[in-house]
Amino acid sequence: MREHPIRIYDTMTRRKRQFKPLNPPEVTMYVCGPTVYEEPHIGNLRTFASGDLIRRWLTHRGYRVKYVMNITDIEDKTIRDSGKAGKTLKEFTDYYTGIFLRGIDTLNIRRATAHPKATIYVPQMIEFISELVERGFAYEAEDGVYFDIDKFPGYGRLSGVDLSKTERTERVASDSYDKEDAQDFALWKKATAEELERGIYFESPWGRGRPGWHIECSAMSRELLGETIDIHAGGEDLAFPHHENEVAQSESLTGKQFVRFWLHMRFLRVGGSRMGKSLGNYVIFDQILEKHSPEALRYFYISTQYRRPLDFTWPAMETAENTVRRLENTLDMIENAMRGPDANLDYGDLEDRLLKKVRTEEEAFGAAMDDDFDTPVALGHLHAAAGAVNEYLTGPANKGVLLEAADTYRTMLNTLGLFEEKKEGSDEDTERLIGLIIDLREEQRKAKNYAFADMIRDRLQEAGVTIQDTAGGATWKIAKS
Ligand SMILES: [Zn+2]
Repeated sequence: MREHPIRIYDTMTRRKRQFKPLNPPEVTMYVCGPTVYEEPHIGNLRTFASGDLIRRWLTHRGYRVKYVMNITDIEDKTIRDSGKAGKTLKEFTDYYTGIFLRGIDTLNIRRATAHPKATIYVPQMIEFISELVERGFAYEAEDGVYFDIDKFPGYGRLSGVDLSKTERTERVASDSYDKEDAQDFALWKKATAEELERGIYFESPWGRGRPGWHIECSAMSRELLGETIDIHAGGEDLAFPHHENEVAQSESLTGKQFVRFWLHMRFLRVGGSRMGKSLGNYVIFDQILEKHSPEALRYFYISTQYRRPLDFTWPAMETAENTVRRLENTLDMIENAMRGPDANLDYGDLEDRLLKKVRTEEEAFGAAMDDDFDTPVALGHLHAAAGAVNEYLTGPANKGVLLEAADTYRTMLNTLGLFEEKKEGSDEDTERLIGLIIDLREEQRKAKNYAFADMIRDRLQEAGVTIQDTAGGATWKIAKS
């Protein structure tokens, strides 16, 4: 086995560095997840597809990636919009969490090792803030607890914000703000009258309130991955203030380096400007699915490296669709040939050329991926491998040789999340469907429609699925036939 040095661009040091995890083969990776107050648009999804790609490649290279992507269910926007919608915060954020998870499943983005919700980790956040206060890095003010950025000399190093050039007069209470407003930021926000009335608060040493957005990721990352993690990633807009503040909080608390590699994914753009809800130029995943396959969107994303801006247009989606169908066509041709007659049991020049070509392309594909996940270059080699297979299949195929070439080709596709062989796929689909039926039955039980709930149970039983009602909800198993 050969060593494969992976090089990753790190925002903190502003250069590509060789990647070495702290405790190989384990890699700890944290990606700032969605704020669940709207349907994710395809700009948001690009970030998560990039995270998935990086995780897949590291896994392919033999690392064991512990991958955490949080769900931000409590911050300014989720509170504001749930109120507007007349829903409880939980109802509202559960709904959008469901949409998000179904979206990433459809896009074949693998679920993270953990998707922690911020509201579950509030005790850890309170502990974190208390320690910062005790040690003089944070202070209590009238409306909350703030981090004192003067106490952290490294403040600004990640995002390049220049404190000497910013007007420093006030504290900033809101979760999002611009570089020009680098100020002491809120770790804890005391509950407003509206929040008290709606029951959106937690008890704390500073009275009733709730965490600020930035402390959420620091606390969850520390709890689930430890004090120093290998990779922390997120959209480019998160470098300031979110990640800058995370560094300040975490490194002040532990005195250790928080993150060894900072990765920032660039925006998806429309007509030169960022795709965003506030700009009204966004496209949601469902709009893509009306016209295109999930593979086409994945292909469109990786046609540009994660660290470069990508411009969305419908013709570009069309091109991605056509290209991805060509790659699929090669898979179909392989399958057909494998089912065909054994017309060639020999090993000649054509076989030799095929294997050599496919192996060379795979090597080059890997080298491109090792170089900061350079997908456009890698795709060139993938297409060259497909071309070699297509050419070989114009004549009678030696199935042994074809199988070897096909394995290599499929592996390349799968590391990109394309046409992954769904060995467990049908099982997964079945599980999801049964889960859905059981949720519906629970609803009926809650509504005291017991006869209907019993009918669902009996019909499932006939289909070989046994349900058991427990205190924690229903569990089920499939009888092996
Ligand atoms: Zn975050």
